[in-house]
Amino acid sequence: MRREWESVIGLEVHLQLKTGTKVWCGCSADYDNDDPNTHTCPICLGHPGALPKLNKKVVEYAIKAALALNCNINNVSGFDRKNYFYPDTPKNYQITQFEKPYCEKGHLDVKLNSGREFRVGITRIQIEEDAGKSIHTEHESLINFNRASMPLLEIISDPDLRSSEEAYEYLNLLKSTIKYTGISDVSMELGSLRCDANISVREKGAEKFGTRVEVKNLNSFKAVARAIDYEIGRQIETIENGGSIDQETRLWDDEVQITRVMRSKEEAMDYRYFSEPDLPRLVIKNEEIERVKAIMPESKVEKMGRFVNDYELPEYDAHILCEEIELADYFEAVAKITNNPKLTSNWIMTEVLRNLKENGKTIEEFSISPEDLGKIINLIISNVISSKIAKELFEIKLTDDRDPEVIVKEKGMVQVADVNAIEDMVKEVLENNSKMVEDYHNSDEGRRPRVLKGLIGQVMKLSKGKANPQMVTDLITKKLS
Ligand SMILES: [Zn+2]
Repeated sequence: MRREWESVIGLEVHLQLKTGTKVWCGCSADYDNDDPNTHTCPICLGHPGALPKLNKKVVEYAIKAALALNCNINNVSGFDRKNYFYPDTPKNYQITQFEKPYCEKGHLDVKLNSGREFRVGITRIQIEEDAGKSIHTEHESLINFNRASMPLLEIISDPDLRSSEEAYEYLNLLKSTIKYTGISDVSMELGSLRCDANISVREKGAEKFGTRVEVKNLNSFKAVARAIDYEIGRQIETIENGGSIDQETRLWDDEVQITRVMRSKEEAMDYRYFSEPDLPRLVIKNEEIERVKAIMPESKVEKMGRFVNDYELPEYDAHILCEEIELADYFEAVAKITNNPKLTSNWIMTEVLRNLKENGKTIEEFSISPEDLGKIINLIISNVISSKIAKELFEIKLTDDRDPEVIVKEKGMVQVADVNAIEDMVKEVLENNSKMVEDYHNSDEGRRPRVLKGLIGQVMKLSKGKANPQMVTDLITKKLS
């Protein structure tokens, strides 16, 4: 009989906080375009005698994360030293929270595409510091300490995930939830979000967890999902072939799509943790938690509610528009210009999202600015162009950054709303389609609208899509009766 297996997955996510300055010193965190080792000082370089001082903003951002992820905040916690030697760690230890983190026992409720919902527990979140960066070239190894002592939050989930799909959706929800708080860019590409996965398998129904393997070097959410699937397959195969799983750390090789051993349990580091003597206990008073609660940015759920109430959008629209905060911002910027939220929502949910999907782009990379989309929609509202022409204009605008009104004038896209001109076209169509006209008069009420639609279509075709559809409809109906 085939044995049935269940996988058990927990994720450790590191977030870099957008606090402007580092966690223990005043060095600027905005170093991306600057020369190596220009954002450093004796504190973040770990010079003897230099004392760390906790950045207040880091605590505020950490509280925001705790609130967004439904965690219990500890009024008193502390910092510990995690000792290890690595060239990019100037102090030869990392300051982290080991004994007692600032918050624990949170959760996120994740919904899968199938509609199934499940809860992922957050074991704990700890405040810690980032390391510098080693750069290895063919001839030399270089170290850049600009990133040393950048503030990080490590978010550790309970082992509640059972598949790569669940892990993928959890990460997406975690990312969008944090993005709404504004504390981090949460971008894997920029390195402000990093993820390690703990993976084990056990026989279905078993109580005890299997031996877990930690997988590092995961560069995208897709890589996380693939590495999980690979590990589950590898572990099951190993056990079914009579082998056993070693507790070890493995690296994901994205090129070959496999994991490789990085270090085994025997080689596991002994970090000799002890309480950080240079920092006082971290005290977070309830008043401070209340203060941060009051300044928390709108959450996704709150925004969806506002879109339904203030813009009178259907819940379906609000749900899609608020999926990513950038898309919600884009919608609000366009709606402000058009004063027509529903028409704006329709355009974003169809044309804009279709285009993004086709090109694998995000709304931040979209070529049409909110101002220009607002202008296109306003041209429809003010009857200058028809919806059909507006779609053509939209296509042109994707690669043409001139003002939509300039393009409309240049390409002669202006809608024909001149009664005499439309009347002439209606006349021509009715004369040339006598059979359809006859059909219209001989049809019953059920069939008539269809014949009418055909005739309207002929006029629109004759006008190259530029006739005002409402005027065409009114004039044809009048002529036929
Ligand atoms: Zn510094």
